[in-house]
Amino acid sequence: MTKTTIVGYPRIGVNRELKFTTEAYFKNEIDAKELSAKAKELRQEYWNKQREARIDIIPSNDFSYYDNLLDTAFLLNIIPERYKKLRLSPLGTYFAMARGYQKGDKDVKALPMKKWFNTNYHYIVPEIEKDTEFSINDTKPFDLYREAKALGIDTKPVIIGIFTFLKLAHLNTDKTFEKCLEELSQVYIEVLDKFEAEGISYLQIDEPILVTDLSESDINLFKDVYNKILAKNYKFKTILQTYFGDVRDIYPHLKDLKFDAVGLDLAEGKKNIELIEKYGFPKDKVIIAGIVNGKNIWINNYKKSIDIIKKLKKYVDEDRLYIGTSCSLLHVPHTIAKEDKISKDYIESLAFAEQKLVEVNDLRELSKDDKYVENNKYTENTNILERKNSNSICFNKDIRSKVENLKDEDFVRAEDFDERRKTQKEYFNFPILPTTTIGSFPQTKEIKKLRQSLRKGEISENQYEDEIKEKIKDIIKFQEEIDLDVLVHGEYERTDMVEYFGRLLHGFLFTQNGWVQSYGTRAVKPPIVYGDIKRENPMTVKWIKYAQDQTDRPVKGMLTGPITILNWSFPREDLELKQIAYQIGLAIGEEVLDLEAAGIKIIQIDEAALREKLPLRKEDWREEYLDWAIPAFRLTNSKVKIDTQIHTHMCYSEFSDIIKEIDDMDADVISIEAARSDSSLLDFLHENNFKLEIGPGVYDIHSPRVPTEEEIEELIKTMIGKLDIKKLWINPDCGLKTRGMKETKPSLINMVKATKKVRSYTPGV
Ligand code: GLN
Ligand code: ZN
Repeated sequence: MTKTTIVGYPRIGVNRELKFTTEAYFKNEIDAKELSAKAKELRQEYWNKQREARIDIIPSNDFSYYDNLLDTAFLLNIIPERYKKLRLSPLGTYFAMARGYQKGDKDVKALPMKKWFNTNYHYIVPEIEKDTEFSINDTKPFDLYREAKALGIDTKPVIIGIFTFLKLAHLNTDKTFEKCLEELSQVYIEVLDKFEAEGISYLQIDEPILVTDLSESDINLFKDVYNKILAKNYKFKTILQTYFGDVRDIYPHLKDLKFDAVGLDLAEGKKNIELIEKYGFPKDKVIIAGIVNGKNIWINNYKKSIDIIKKLKKYVDEDRLYIGTSCSLLHVPHTIAKEDKISKDYIESLAFAEQKLVEVNDLRELSKDDKYVENNKYTENTNILERKNSNSICFNKDIRSKVENLKDEDFVRAEDFDERRKTQKEYFNFPILPTTTIGSFPQTKEIKKLRQSLRKGEISENQYEDEIKEKIKDIIKFQEEIDLDVLVHGEYERTDMVEYFGRLLHGFLFTQNGWVQSYGTRAVKPPIVYGDIKRENPMTVKWIKYAQDQTDRPVKGMLTGPITILNWSFPREDLELKQIAYQIGLAIGEEVLDLEAAGIKIIQIDEAALREKLPLRKEDWREEYLDWAIPAFRLTNSKVKIDTQIHTHMCYSEFSDIIKEIDDMDADVISIEAARSDSSLLDFLHENNFKLEIGPGVYDIHSPRVPTEEEIEELIKTMIGKLDIKKLWINPDCGLKTRGMKETKPSLINMVKATKKVRSYTPGV
C-alpha cells in the first residue's frame, strides 16, 4: 500500500511561540528547563497534527532550537575550540556558536550564516578545525525519537547526510575533504548503530547537495562513503532524501546505492520525471514522490499530481510508491486557520503546512484507482482552481497585453552607456569620487512608533505625513551639512523595501500570521503574488519630490527592483516567473517616469536580492533566470531621458561569475557590498573591463563600529589603484536602516572627510 510521509515540519510555532520562548531564554527571563518544556509541547503539537492528518511516516529531529546544520555539527562534536573554552553548559555552547558570546572579558563571535540553497532560510556554517575530533556529542536525535515513541508514534528520525554536511562546512584545517569524509563516516556509522539500538523503522538522510552540480569525483566519493556507512544492512529502512531540484548527476548511479528509498522533489525538480522515464527506477527501492510543494503556499493541483502519480506507476509498483512533500514544510507558514482578514475567495486557494498534510493524504487516497473523478475532494479542488482562475485579479487583459506586446526596444535605453555618461558628466558636474548613501537612514523607535500610531488610528494620515516630512527635511539638512553630493530622502515611510511596494501595487496579498523562519529566532512574512500586478497610483513621488524641494543638490528617487520584489515574495504558480517579473518591471517603470517628470534626475532601483535565486546548477543560470531577470530590470528604466541617471544597488560582493550580466543591466551607476571582501573583486572588475560606474562600499554598515577617516582614505586609495577613478563613487556598503544615528553621523562625516582628502592630492583635479 502507498504510504505517506513529509520531509520536515515548521517549528517556529503557529504564534511564533518558539521564537518568543527562546528569546525569553536569551534574556534570562526563563531558564533552560522552561525552554525545553515549551519545545517539547510544540513537538507534541506538530506530531499530533501529522498523526491526525494520517501521515504514516512522521519525521522527528526536524525540530531545532536554532538550525539543523548547527545541530548536526553539535552532534558530531564539531565545536571550535574558542566555544569550548567558554566552558558553558551544552546548551550555552550551542547558542554561543549560533549567536556569539559576550560577557566580562569573554568575547567570541558567532559562526557565520549562509543561505540554505536557494531558499531564504539561513544555516550556521560548521567549522572543522585542525584538532576537531569527530565523535558523538549529543543525544537529541535519539531522545526525540523516544519522546515520540512515548506518544505512540514510531517516527522517522531526520539527519543531514555526511556529504551535504561536509560540502557546506568550513574546513579550517589542512585535512582534505576526503580525509574528513573518511573520519566522519566512522561517526555516522556509530550514529546509525545507535538508531538501530533504539529500534527505529526508518531513517531519513538529507542530501540536498545532490541537486547541485557534482563532479565525477564527487559521485564516486558519495557512492563509496555510503557503501561504507550502509555496509551493515541495518534493520531499519534508509531514505536518501533530496530536495530543491533534480538529481541529474547521481540518478544513473542510484541503483548502485544501498538506500532502501529515494525522496525526489517533483515540484522544483521537474527534470526528475524525465530521469525516471529515461533510466527507469531501481526495482529494489521505494520512491518517495515529493509532489506537494513545500516551498510555496498554493493548494495542490490534484489533477496534475494524479497525472504524475499515474506516470510513476509505470515505473514502480504501487507499494513502492510513497507520497510526500517536495522538501521540508519549514519554508511555509504553519496554518491558514489564523488568517481571518483575508477573504474566503482567496483563502480557499492557499495551503500552508497544516493544510499540506491533508493534501498529502488526499493524494494517496485519490490516486488509488480511477474513481477519483467522482470524489468530492477532487471536484472541490478542481472547482477552487477554476474559481481562482476566473478571479479577475488573476487575469488582467490590459496587463497581459502590455507584456505580450513588449518589443526589443522596450528593454534598451535610447542612448548607449558612453553617450549617456558624457551627457550626465556635463549635466551633474560632480567632483571626482562623488559621495552618496544607499537610501535608508536609521529607522528610530520614534518612527516605528509613528507608524504604529497610524495603524491603530491614533493619528491621522495627515499627521503621519507631516511627521515623516519633518524627518525628511531634517535628514536632507544633515546631508547638506556634512556635504554629501547626492542625497536621499531616508526611506522613513517604508517598513520594508518589498512590503512597501507590495502594499501599494495591485495583485499582492498579505497575511497576518504567515511567518516563515529565516534564521534562528527570526521569521519573515513574505507577501504573496496573487494576481496580475499593476501600479494604481504613484507610490513614491510625493516623498521624493518633497525631499528634492528642500535642496539644490540632487536627491535620488528610491525604488525596489522587480527581481527583488519577486524573490522576496511567494510567487504565483499559474504564471511563469518571467511574466511576473515583467509585470512588476512595467509597474516600477511607470513610477520611474513619474519621478522623472517630477524633476528627479537620479533614480536608484535596488536589486538587493538578484543573486539569491540564481539556479543551483550553472547550466540553468541563463535560460531559467538571468535571461529574463536582467531584462526585467532594464524594462524599469528603458524610457528615461539621456540625462536621467539610473543607479542600482546589490547586497553582495560575490558576483564575479555574473559580472557580464550585471554590466548588462545597463544602469549608469551601481553600488555593492564590497567593504568586507578583499580587493580581489576590484582586480576582477578591472580585468573584465567592468563598464558601469561603481561604488564598492567603503565601510561595513552591518556593525556599529565607526570607521576612521584614515582607514577609509586607505581603502579609497586601494580602489583608485585598481579602478578608473572617473568611474568611482564613495558610499557605505548598504542601507543604514538598521543602524543608529549615533554611529551613522560620525561614520558618514569620516567618509566625506576621507574623500575630500583624497581629492585634494589626486592629480588632474
Ligand atoms: N535602498 C535600500 C536601503 O537603503 C537598500 C536596502 C538593501 O540593500 N538591503 O535600505
Ligand atoms: Zn544592500
